[in-house]
Amino acid sequence: MSNQLSERINNLVPSATLEMAAKARELRASGKDIIGLSLGEPDFNTPDYIKDAAIQAIKDGYNSYTPVDGYVELKDAISTKFKRDNGISYERPQIVVSTGAKQALYNVAQACLNKGDEVILPCPYWVSYSDIVKLSEGVPVEVTTSIENDFKMTPEQLEAAITPKTKMLWYSSPCNPSGSIYSKEELRGLADVLQKHPQIVVVSDEIYEHINYGVTAHASMAAFDDMYDRTVTVNGVAKAFAMTGWRIGYIGAPSYIARACNKLQGQVTSGANCIAQRAVITALLESPTRVQYMVDQFKNRRKLILELLNNIEGFKCNEPEGAFYVYPDVTAFFGRTLNGKTINNASDFAMYLLEEANVATVTGDAFGNGNSIRISYAASEEDIKKAISRIAEAVK
Ligand code: PMP
Ligand code: GLU
Repeated sequence: MSNQLSERINNLVPSATLEMAAKARELRASGKDIIGLSLGEPDFNTPDYIKDAAIQAIKDGYNSYTPVDGYVELKDAISTKFKRDNGISYERPQIVVSTGAKQALYNVAQACLNKGDEVILPCPYWVSYSDIVKLSEGVPVEVTTSIENDFKMTPEQLEAAITPKTKMLWYSSPCNPSGSIYSKEELRGLADVLQKHPQIVVVSDEIYEHINYGVTAHASMAAFDDMYDRTVTVNGVAKAFAMTGWRIGYIGAPSYIARACNKLQGQVTSGANCIAQRAVITALLESPTRVQYMVDQFKNRRKLILELLNNIEGFKCNEPEGAFYVYPDVTAFFGRTLNGKTINNASDFAMYLLEEANVATVTGDAFGNGNSIRISYAASEEDIKKAISRIAEAVK
């Protein structure tokens, strides 16, 4: 039988982060000693007080379908969190709980985009943004930033990218993959441009909010009164609470967008997992200081990996202020032949590191910027040291 797949799925590229992680797993299973620095996944265990809440929920008989947009107790906990951490007031009808921040983003794209609508994505952007936009028949419009400007989009660049077809702007701050954080003033600069274009809806992905190394305070677009009505704030528990596999993310949004996401979810998933939702109530209502020990360790690892990478000729690093990735510019290696292999671009370089150094990273092409590779330092100090010394050896 011929291939009966849809054009939509044939045009979709696999997630580069998940694909690299799968490749590393495969190589490991075949006996290779691969160090995985490709996946943005904390290597910590979910804290016990959160696990206990899940165990209690099972014992208490939470096993039925939940409301499609989440338990009201969870929506209230999310509302409390938004007020406490971000100074944003979201009421129950403005909140939707989803199966990870990824599904939350997909819902919003499906809810807001018509065929041909343009979505501005400052590059580098998180790997799935452009494909989620394309799946929703939107058109990603990439705005190139540079390491010199700490990978941040300026108000002038935003203004220049806007056309009559622009429907949305999506960004993450702290940024995956660059670790850059937009200050309140910088966000205000972007908001001032957006004031002239009231049709544009902003998606502010704040999933790395708590993984902040104290240089630039976290700021939220929706906290500006004049942006509140057209900003969707996306967040989740995967990163700060080491809960990637629990699959809970959420949005605070204008209620018409939240209603649309709820309707979509009602036809697609019926809502997120009940036990995970109960555990997240505890995660969010407890003080974020309870997970600070992980942030402290990420900060030590950041220092370590930057010192080690800056010692390798050809690696040019920015200093990430949040998240747990470095995004070094590796253009110095392009056009060179190492151990008989010619490196033409970031994908070749990432593949070279996998094959020659047994270290998994992700090509910058996946994030809309082909000058860099992304290295996750959500790994033990021992693995970081071993991995970077192998890389140094392989690129000598
Ligand atoms: N946004 C960003 C910026 C991310 O790095 C990730 C990675 N997990 C997500 C969203 C998706 O998060 P989740 O695991 O909650 O789906
Ligand atoms: N967000 C993580 C990353 O960028 C997890 C993988 C994924 O969801 O794509 O590596």
